[in-house]
Amino acid sequence: MKKILLLTPLALAFCSNTDAKEPVITKEIREENGNKVEFMFIDGVKVHEEDPAKQPQPKIVVPKPYDAEATKAPEGAIVLFDGSEKSLKNWTATNGEPSKWALVDGALESVRGAGYIRTKNEYGSCRLHIEFATPSKPEGGGQGRGNSGVFLMEQYEVQVLDSYQNTTYPDGQCGALYGRKKPLVNASRPPGEWQTFDITFTRPTFDEAGKVKRKARFTVIHNGILIHDDLELSGGTGWAGPHAASEYVKHADKGPISLQDHGNPVRFRNIWIKDIAD
Ligand code: MG
Repeated sequence: MKKILLLTPLALAFCSNTDAKEPVITKEIREENGNKVEFMFIDGVKVHEEDPAKQPQPKIVVPKPYDAEATKAPEGAIVLFDGSEKSLKNWTATNGEPSKWALVDGALESVRGAGYIRTKNEYGSCRLHIEFATPSKPEGGGQGRGNSGVFLMEQYEVQVLDSYQNTTYPDGQCGALYGRKKPLVNASRPPGEWQTFDITFTRPTFDEAGKVKRKARFTVIHNGILIHDDLELSGGTGWAGPHAASEYVKHADKGPISLQDHGNPVRFRNIWIKDIAD
């Protein structure tokens, strides 16, 4: 008996210190405003939970100033956008037509109603560097302020949002793997300032029947600060209702990188990618 009591705290510490533990996901249908709504819970916390008592807001940390030297494309990287008209041709609208996003001061700016844009080429496991700035004059609140997103394989969203003095459900704030995992900390810079994401992504694999065999993994560094540490993504990041996220759906081994038009003029620049081993 004594021995068990001694071991238990150690075992607990070991378990709580790792993301390797599969999250427990449950679903139920509840009535909300007279409608039947699917509620998904990840480790007992509702998707898009806004109550800080149930889903605490990530701690705010102040990143170091932007360092241009640290953001240069390394040898072997493919430049997807460098501010030039020529690099704009690496991107199209999702229907394959030329993108209607604007080229403004060497940045690629989301245009309301223009839709998502995506790369012409396709990528699987990769390292992606991308810079973004939310509108310098903040308008709206919550999900309505500076919303965009970076999608790996056109599927898995790393949320772009103005999360500087702007709270929302933590699994939808800047740097969140949308609806699935909040960032470890809030490393956002103020609106209008350039911010960086350095994403290391390992693609998921699927079996013949379409079931996910190996889940996707994300390491994300936001403004030089680690916000996801080799995280295994529990499922899809698509909207599946106000309290649910999509599931994995089998797709090809490669897919485009895409950027979201969510109605806010978010800017992007200095985008480069490097394939990594599966
Ligand atoms: Mg978004």
